[in-house]
Amino acid sequence: MGRRFDLVIVGGGTAGWMCAAACAAKLDRSRFRIRLIESEEIGTVGVGEATLPQMKDFNDFLGLDEVEFMQATQASFKLGIEFVNWGREGDRYIHPFGTFGRPIGEADFFSYWVRAHHNGTAAPLSDYCFPIVAARQNHFMLPTGKADDVRNAFAYAYHLDAFLYARYLRRWAEERGIERVEGRIVDVERDTESGRVAAVTLQSDARIEGDMFVDCSGFRSLLLGQALGVELEEWTHWLPCDRAVAVPSVRSTDFTPYTRSTRRKAGWQWRIPLQHRTGNGYVYASQYISDDEAAAALLSSLDGEALAEPRVLRFTAGKRRYAWAQNVVGMGLAGGFLEPLESTSIYLVQMAIMHMLTLLPSGRTIDPALPNEFNRVMDVEYDRIRDFLILHYVANDPAAPLWQQVTAMDIPQSLTAKIERFRNRAYVEAYRDGLFGPPSWQAVFVGQGIMPAAADRLADAMPDAVLADRLGKLAQTIERGAATAPLHADFVARYCPAPLP
Ligand code: FAD
Repeated sequence: MGRRFDLVIVGGGTAGWMCAAACAAKLDRSRFRIRLIESEEIGTVGVGEATLPQMKDFNDFLGLDEVEFMQATQASFKLGIEFVNWGREGDRYIHPFGTFGRPIGEADFFSYWVRAHHNGTAAPLSDYCFPIVAARQNHFMLPTGKADDVRNAFAYAYHLDAFLYARYLRRWAEERGIERVEGRIVDVERDTESGRVAAVTLQSDARIEGDMFVDCSGFRSLLLGQALGVELEEWTHWLPCDRAVAVPSVRSTDFTPYTRSTRRKAGWQWRIPLQHRTGNGYVYASQYISDDEAAAALLSSLDGEALAEPRVLRFTAGKRRYAWAQNVVGMGLAGGFLEPLESTSIYLVQMAIMHMLTLLPSGRTIDPALPNEFNRVMDVEYDRIRDFLILHYVANDPAAPLWQQVTAMDIPQSLTAKIERFRNRAYVEAYRDGLFGPPSWQAVFVGQGIMPAAADRLADAMPDAVLADRLGKLAQTIERGAATAPLHADFVARYCPAPLP
């Protein structure tokens, strides 16, 4: 057997153990030696509870059992995110993990809805979306798998304890031969000629060499940021929130199959129901509110008793200029961070892992084409999420200084063009790479009060009465379908009850 390729993962948070698990599942161990270094003394960021439907794909890719995974992570189901007070005070809308309507003619459903809306014959857009209607009833079911069933036109994600997920994946990966090294890294050694990272040294003086390193060291970005000096491209001028205060509370009776995001004076507040507790946090711009004030605002709005002291976390919106530099690939918080308004961080870890596995070099020499492609796709991922997040900020009543700032700011040209296309023709292009699909944009545009002047002209051909009749019947079918689903709390209690902690 020749020398194995030495892959060293630095950090054992959610990112590190997701990466280790994927490597354990898919890399041939006769060719790869895989080690993960983590420091219990430093610990992990310890927040992160809402995910996107792609997480199910990742778990399936590993071959995890859904019920076992949900029990191990105290997970519940997520059909989307409810936005409260976004747009205008008192407004509510849900960004669902599903499509609006179903094909009823030559144009896409959304264009028919826009037409009927202008005619005054449409119900609210949300009435044509199964996951929204089910969420409003606090109901949940798995998709039926039948192509023409409205109860199949959605995907689902999880609310979970990311710390428990990392612990679960650690056990899973260690059982499959991943070597875990406990210790604090105190030095990173670079090859003087090539500049590559050659080894890391632990406090114990142990020296660990690697051919390639995956930096999952969290906000410290030990290798990518500190050792290689890859700077953070900051997006704070578009996304000014730079702190969060988080606190868990006792599980409430309102066990929603969705995350709630409530707009507040200096940011927004999350509420995420898990089986053993509810996760809460206030994400805010520190220039407009103090930590104490934010913590007090959070504590006074919980729907259950607080289970711990509030914890403040600091961050900067942005991403490292290169996610892969030399022989280091950065992922998770080491690669960048965008506030959790659309639950995208764990998704970004997943994407980084999948692209890394696809582009992993076969020897020590790294053809620049590989990092170039990795950095291109990760840039696309980040840019698209960034624009989607900014959209939530720009369309609001400017009720407080933060909201005056973000509703008056210059936005990326890519987003301006997107808004204009939507306003003119209800048009949202679908992408090959990256989040989010047209239904997500439609939900947030309409939810925040950005309405199209007109839609696809193909939708004009259907007579008004036929359109009104089809829309009416569809809304009824969806309403009845959602009523057949059980309460989310009952479904979880039967399907994946987790042990009391
Ligand atoms: P960390 O958890 O910080 O792990 C870093 C690891 O590196 C640790 O194991 C640490 O011990 C190790 N390490 C660091 N330095 C050293 C050293 N010198 N020597 C040895 N080991 C070292 N994501 C979502 O998808 N959904 C959400 O709802 C969500 N909410 C969030 C809310 C907030 C306020 C924040 C800040 C983040 C949120 N995230 C969310 C992001 C999510 O928490 C992270 O993306 C995810 O947990 C990955 O973290 P990580 O593994 O990159 O870093």
